[in-house]
Amino acid sequence: MTTSPQTLPPFALQPQFVARIWGTRDLSAWYPEMAPGEPIGEAWLSGDACLAHSGPLAGQTLGRIFAEDAPRMIGVASADSPLLIKILFAQEKLSVQVHPDDAMAQRKGFPRGKTECWYALEAAPGAEVACGLKPDATLAAIEASLHDQTLENWLNALPVSTGEMIFVDAGTVHAIWPGSVLLETQQNCDLTYRLYDYGRPRPLHIQESLEALRLHTRAGKIPPVVQRDRTVLLDSTYFRIEKLAFSGGLNSSQLLNPDEAPALSYLFAGRHRITVKTAQQETVPWPANALLAVPACCEAFQLSSAEPAEVIRIVASQPLTS
Ligand SMILES: [Zn+2]
Repeated sequence: MTTSPQTLPPFALQPQFVARIWGTRDLSAWYPEMAPGEPIGEAWLSGDACLAHSGPLAGQTLGRIFAEDAPRMIGVASADSPLLIKILFAQEKLSVQVHPDDAMAQRKGFPRGKTECWYALEAAPGAEVACGLKPDATLAAIEASLHDQTLENWLNALPVSTGEMIFVDAGTVHAIWPGSVLLETQQNCDLTYRLYDYGRPRPLHIQESLEALRLHTRAGKIPPVVQRDRTVLLDSTYFRIEKLAFSGGLNSSQLLNPDEAPALSYLFAGRHRITVKTAQQETVPWPANALLAVPACCEAFQLSSAEPAEVIRIVASQPLTS
């Protein structure tokens, strides 16, 4: 049987590794095939340059797939990839930064702002991130603290444990600090304003940061909502993130919520070894710590695992067309 032109099978995406000064030289626990080299900070799991690993679109970049196949990927005629999903391996403090909301990004000529969230795949004892400002912070106090390098005193330090979800809406002053490995889901937008870098010599974007930041946001830990067949980790305007545990098998129809319209989603299974089979009984390769893209028009498929397994399911809400 051949694939009908209206549908697509699920396909894995090849991660793209990005060197960062705050990254790690040893990714062997996550990607055993990676040779030690320059410090890797980010594995981009759904970047525009990530290649489809299998199926009729194999070898194409995700950016090109959206340019040519948006209706099948996301169900609208013209859209770029709405979500950027990464794993962050911070060995040092990342800069303190802020992202614009949709309105500010669009004023600057970009299609969307950047709301993001972090799911802790791993966290060492004592791991923390900076998420938001202390309740009594004022814009004047923040500006003054930039002059005397004391901004850290105004940051809300949040302890992180494995399995926790932290929401970081646009406008939140935030920083990833070492000690955790985070699965980051964000709106696919390339606007990051660096407010403070602990005296490191990288450029800052103070004016834009002060314009984008909000003293009070909804950022913080999101308690999981346990439902009959899944745990909802986060339900936001731009993405919904769920965890589904299963043993044996799981049909693609069981991944859907009862009221869910066809939507683009991504599955992440970490190191769980899950076999993916299409309705035609073809096996879809799914490497460890890579995403399985499930297009809006995806054919039925089956997940199976010899051991109890868990998948994180990231569903894109309807994108802004660009
Ligand atoms: Zn950020």
